Amino acid sequence: MKIREITLGSTGIRTPQNGFGALPIQRDDADTAVQILRRAYGGGMIFFDTARAYSDSEEKIGLALADVRNQIFLATKSRARNPRDLRQDLETSLQKLRTDYVDVFQFHQAEQCYAPGDGTDMYEEMEKLKAEGKICHIGITTHKIGVAEEIVASDLYETLQYPFSYLAAERDLDLVAACREHNMGFIAMKGLAGGLINDSHAAFAFMNQPQFDHVIPIWGVQRMRELEEWLAFMENPAEMDESVRQVIGQDKEELSGDFCRGCGYCMPCPQGITINQCARIGLMVRRAPSEDWLSEHWQREMEKVRTCIHCNSCSFQCPYDLDTPALLQRNLRDYEAILAGQKSVEDHLTLH
Ligand code: SF4
Ligand code: SF4
Repeated sequence: MKIREITLGSTGIRTPQNGFGALPIQRDDADTAVQILRRAYGGGMIFFDTARAYSDSEEKIGLALADVRNQIFLATKSRARNPRDLRQDLETSLQKLRTDYVDVFQFHQAEQCYAPGDGTDMYEEMEKLKAEGKICHIGITTHKIGVAEEIVASDLYETLQYPFSYLAAERDLDLVAACREHNMGFIAMKGLAGGLINDSHAAFAFMNQPQFDHVIPIWGVQRMRELEEWLAFMENPAEMDESVRQVIGQDKEELSGDFCRGCGYCMPCPQGITINQCARIGLMVRRAPSEDWLSEHWQREMEKVRTCIHCNSCSFQCPYDLDTPALLQRNLRDYEAILAGQKSVEDHLTLH
């Protein structure tokens, strides 16, 4: 069975429900990124999401895909907070992407739902860019559920980009359903919950449900082997069944309550603490290959948690209302216990 195609709300964009999130290719060298992007296109992906803020991600996309520009959809975004910078960002994006239009142009990480007449002129500038043919559709991304709900209710946007995975809370599910009712495309970022979900089969099967036929997940891809996992679903899409339900049920149980999604919106920290990893390292050690997280580098990073001055700037900025300093201390204790456990196992192995 082939993967299904979805329509991204009122944009009319038709795409296999398997999008490419181009944030991680920043960390690849240019040759590797180009190979990955070409393979993604060759394997059937046609929806690519990037951002002005993702350093050279746009440039790599331009390098890899300029010759197939009309066969693909490009979504990018700007963190500009005034109309002049918004226009300038788009011009830069167009140049880097080697194109004269983007399919979806999004306000990046919006703190508010820009609307005509709100005094910012931001929405008006988007409309001008659209009238000039430089962008086809107006989109917006946010991490704040209240802002996201306001955006949907406004009916001003054709797409909303928001974190969405099978760990979604009831309110998030309602948001996705509301988008569908408003004929709005939903671009799902963090479909693996920032690395906490390690089962791509279950993650894909969750999206591949009838009620999400307006949702395009943009899987973040840095390595060819990750890409191949997603491409395998093109011919053989994972579906929701009893075994997937069990995986999701177990993960929800393990990850219920307050946990850090790793988004990094609380950073930078004045003490240089890598909050978006340190506040969830206990989970990562258990769920991702632990040697990486137990390395000297991460031991040093966790040491920094002790220097926290409890200024609370992180918890103030956390879109999930987490008590971040407390979470960091909890993870530090957890981490120390894991390290101590590991040492005792190593001692045991040495003795025998
Ligand atoms: S409370 Fe601690 S971790 Fe959070 S920003 Fe302040 S110093 Fe950094
Ligand atoms: S503490 Fe909150 S803002 Fe910071 S990385 Fe975690 S989820 Fe994101």
